[in-house]
Amino acid sequence: MNYKRLNYSLQLLLIIVISLVLVACSSAPAASIDITPQSPDITITQTSQQEAPFNRKVDTAVYPGGPAIIFRMDDAAKWWNEEAVEQIIRVFGEQNVPLDIGVIPHADGNDSLEMPFLRRYLDAGIIDLSIHANQHIDKEFDTSQSGTSYEELKADLIKARDQIQQYYNTTPVAFTVPYDYFNEEGYKAVQDAGFKIFSTQKAVEFNPSIYPVDYSGNRDINGMSRLCTVSDVAQWNADKKQWEDILPFSELSQAIDWGLKNL
Ligand SMILES: [Zn+2]
Repeated sequence: MNYKRLNYSLQLLLIIVISLVLVACSSAPAASIDITPQSPDITITQTSQQEAPFNRKVDTAVYPGGPAIIFRMDDAAKWWNEEAVEQIIRVFGEQNVPLDIGVIPHADGNDSLEMPFLRRYLDAGIIDLSIHANQHIDKEFDTSQSGTSYEELKADLIKARDQIQQYYNTTPVAFTVPYDYFNEEGYKAVQDAGFKIFSTQKAVEFNPSIYPVDYSGNRDINGMSRLCTVSDVAQWNADKKQWEDILPFSELSQAIDWGLKNL
């Protein structure tokens, strides 16, 4: 299986990847969603648009221990294919499978984190939020290639997390790497901004670890767990820059086995 880098255009989103881990995050949602057999639809309370503080009604279930698969979808940003993002979330909700949504806080430099529809699925206990990049510019967390700096990345992430806390009333602990490019300065910026989980593709993750580690992979209580993705769910066509068919289960199963042995 070709674990290529996700080097696609900014307009393309809908990366769904699997992380197999022994610790972290949630397993199944505490599903207080209403699904009827006749019409498998999710009843979700509309969130008020007023400025009152948002408080979700249902949390995803507490992680019970043991191996778990995390489904991760990147590139959630205001005005970026919100309809498609919502459709995928609903599929997970209908199956009672929680989904991690990677929010881009400032896509191309614009405020892009406030998406009312995500509040509804937080409220229903279907999703949790991570932070995916800040602006999502090319190779943003590889300072040697993007022109960004440690100080700038760290300050922007702290600000972004505070904004997410204010709008969604939840504090992301995981950071998912845009384009899967990062260097030591980019890694440290994420770590020093206070994140606890760092997730990139396994093809470029040289120190996968369920324990907190520093950039070089040494145990460090102030470091991050490096829960790399083990597979996309669908085939990526690099020439056409589009997703194609869902991968056969045998390939996904092999990827999960890799995770079991290495994480
Ligand atoms: Zn992305």
